Amino acid sequence: MRAQPVNGMIQTDHSAGVCLHLGAAGERCYRPAMIGGFCEKHDPERISRSPLALVRLAAAMLLLFALLWPLIADVVRELQRWLHK
Ligand SMILES: [Zn+2]
Repeated sequence: MRAQPVNGMIQTDHSAGVCLHLGAAGERCYRPAMIGGFCEKHDPERISRSPLALVRLAAAMLLLFALLWPLIADVVRELQRWLHK
């Protein structure tokens, strides 16, 4: 079986082996691996672009904003004072 482009992606044949992902119980993923050693579902780059990763990023940004809020409030106050001079 040779590599065939499917849905715009190159599906490799079984020479690339199976996905390197291990489940919670240590079970191997049975899907054929792509470049990088993971299947389409477990590709780390794809996972980093998933909605869950975006939610985590948004939560981290919110936390950072909350932590820096006293500083941001000071800067805003200074700006307002400067603008209303
Ligand atoms: Zn997998």
